[in-house]
Amino acid sequence: MSHITVDQIEQARKRIASTIHPTPVVPSDTLSALCDTSVYLKLEHQQRTGSFKLRGATNAVLSLSEDERARGVVGVSTGNHGRGLAYAARQNGVKCIICMSNLVPQNKIDGIRAQGAEVRIIGQSQDDAQIEVDRLVAEEGMTMIPPFDHPDIIAGQGTVGLESAEAVPELQMALVQVSGGGLISGVAAALRSRIPGIHIIGVSMERGAAMHTCLKAGKPIFVEEKATLADSLGGGIGLDNAYTFPMTRDLVDEIVLVSETEIAQAIRHAYWKESQIIEGSGAVTLAALLSDKVRPTGPALALLSGGNIDMSLHHRIISGENVDVTEQD
Ligand SMILES: *Cc1c(COP(=O)(O)O)cnc(C)c1O
Repeated sequence: MSHITVDQIEQARKRIASTIHPTPVVPSDTLSALCDTSVYLKLEHQQRTGSFKLRGATNAVLSLSEDERARGVVGVSTGNHGRGLAYAARQNGVKCIICMSNLVPQNKIDGIRAQGAEVRIIGQSQDDAQIEVDRLVAEEGMTMIPPFDHPDIIAGQGTVGLESAEAVPELQMALVQVSGGGLISGVAAALRSRIPGIHIIGVSMERGAAMHTCLKAGKPIFVEEKATLADSLGGGIGLDNAYTFPMTRDLVDEIVLVSETEIAQAIRHAYWKESQIIEGSGAVTLAALLSDKVRPTGPALALLSGGNIDMSLHHRIISGENVDVTEQD
């Protein structure tokens, strides 16, 4: 069975309760006025470590056997999954090694070290780092925790959906970020079980929208990664994808893509109108509403999934500078 059930998500909620904190759902006056219906924001960027990734990582760490826990966990993420995994492991007394290549910028290395993980710098690419992960798994019996395509990760991320449905039971629409699909698979499973008729919209950036391209192709395929303001949404879904591709295909109604300009506008809107500091990936749902690409006709929820943005980049964007991160390719 390739679908995660709401029972698994309920179990995850109990397991992770002492590590994560439930995040607020607040009405947005500006978006409600713009859309002419109630629009709510789920402030998940206020989660510890700055994103929902802590939920899945904590659920995965706490689902390990005693023996597995004693040997520790490894991961390759340089971003929010790495932070979440490092924090989840430290909170629960489990050793954690995050492997990355020496191309990763120092601020990202520092961010993960600050959460208490050992960072191991290996080679010139993500593939080199992966070789070290495979070695740690084979020779030291450590457990690799993947960022999205894993039942414990999906169930953990799904707890965002339970909290949202309980906060606003009359919801008719939810907008959720999509990259590898762990988040939207879990959230959609939770929302559909609580609010069967809800319309679920996935949102990605135009540049390198892997899940969207794979859904159109009807199967997981290679999609080239491109520089984007939504940097936490980059990367493929895995050619051997087992869970998040079928779940997204079966549970999500449509996927909407937003441009770099629209993402920048959404970061600005979040700051000046909602008093929230949101990273590009976290702002794509707002971008879909602000650009009129999505028009809710009843109560709608936009998830703000993360807030880890380089603050000098954020400052430039909210000051109105025309920041273009795509120049580098
Ligand atoms: C990882 C991430 C996403 C996408 O989650 P997937 O499970 O890979 O689809 C969205 N927003 C932020 C801030 C993230 O870190």
